[in-house]
Amino acid sequence: MKTIRRYTNAADAGYDLSLIEAAGLTGIVTEDLTPRVGSNVASPAILLKVQDPDAQRAIDILNADANPDSQPAAILPDAPDPIQNSTSSPTLPQSQTFVVKCPECATKWKLDPQESRQRTFLCTECNTAFPILNISALAGGWIGNGTYPQPDWDLLRNYVNQYFSPSEHPLLWLQLALQWTRAIRDVLGPAYIIYESKNFILLTAKPSDTARSLLNDCEEILIHIRTFLGSLAWHWANGKHLILMFDDLELYYGYVAWFYPEEGQFASSGGMFLNRGYCHTVLPPTQYPVRALVHELTHLSLVRLRIPRWLNEGLAVTTEDAVNGKNSIRWDAELAASHKSHWNTETIQDFWSGKSFLDPASSHVSYSLAQILVTNIREDYGNLEDFIKNAKIPDAGDSSAQAHLGATLSEIASSFLGPGDRTPRLLST
Ligand SMILES: [Zn+2]
Ligand SMILES: [Zn+2]
Repeated sequence: MKTIRRYTNAADAGYDLSLIEAAGLTGIVTEDLTPRVGSNVASPAILLKVQDPDAQRAIDILNADANPDSQPAAILPDAPDPIQNSTSSPTLPQSQTFVVKCPECATKWKLDPQESRQRTFLCTECNTAFPILNISALAGGWIGNGTYPQPDWDLLRNYVNQYFSPSEHPLLWLQLALQWTRAIRDVLGPAYIIYESKNFILLTAKPSDTARSLLNDCEEILIHIRTFLGSLAWHWANGKHLILMFDDLELYYGYVAWFYPEEGQFASSGGMFLNRGYCHTVLPPTQYPVRALVHELTHLSLVRLRIPRWLNEGLAVTTEDAVNGKNSIRWDAELAASHKSHWNTETIQDFWSGKSFLDPASSHVSYSLAQILVTNIREDYGNLEDFIKNAKIPDAGDSSAQAHLGATLSEIASSFLGPGDRTPRLLST
């Protein structure tokens, strides 16, 4: 058996196991009881293991299930604790000053090393005690990724759950997100400034009025998206959503490379929603980031649903239009011709599995088809919400379409593409 993923809760592991089993593979969910050397937290990670010859197929299934624009999974080593190998990296902000803001009176405190190791801090301005957690004080708290420090989010999640009460979690997650943002800022240099709004943290080198108006845009976009998605939208409570806006294309790709080891694949990316560890959005240098923000923040709002990629991308492109108040589907002869020439009963399978979105040769026509199908479903069928909520990766949402739309995906696709059997094949069969 090979470990293919680690989890902090059994429900997530169980969900992924069900995806793998739906494709006919054998896996187990088990606990890793090996103590984490160098860590003062007992963290029994939950492991998903699959029979060795099927490990790569299982990873492909989970990758197809992962949110679009997210990182591919990799086979994790069974034995060594990744934390052990990371603490000596010179880029880790072990000595970073720990700054906390009092939640009551907003006074900022620079904590000395002794105070930094506590779990509570007393603000003497207003006499309020509040919880604190310094990532650098936790052995193995930081994992280097070459250039940018990344917290070990699994370790931190376990620690927070173990030592703090749920009512303290929102404040702690914000503290952790800000420490992480400062650590990234320290790498990028003093031109980069951290801004905060109700739901977002923004790290950017743009002038401050541009940055603030961008944060206002984000808050407004979020309201639009939540109105559009209704009960489908995720309302996060722990921490704020981090948006990293890179000033330089090389820096952007350097950052993203850690999440996407295979280079070049995403060369035309207008932004990415990364859902590993602590969800965040990264943007390349651009004058007009709003469109990309609408797209990525839609993925963020759908992240809990784990829906098929075509549906996720179709919704993201559709929200772009809904927020901008226009319909960008161009029914010109050129686009119609490229759909007709690209899609046949074979290539449509890569659309259902999500693969065609990653291939530069077919990504444009894939996003376009996703938008057309989502638009047609919205206009011609009821029950869109129930369909989306129940759409599962292994069959691309086909059984949910039959149950909630009263039509198969093949019928829905064929009403645009013309007659033919376009039934999604079960993933990896
Ligand atoms: Zn205070
Ligand atoms: Zn997308």
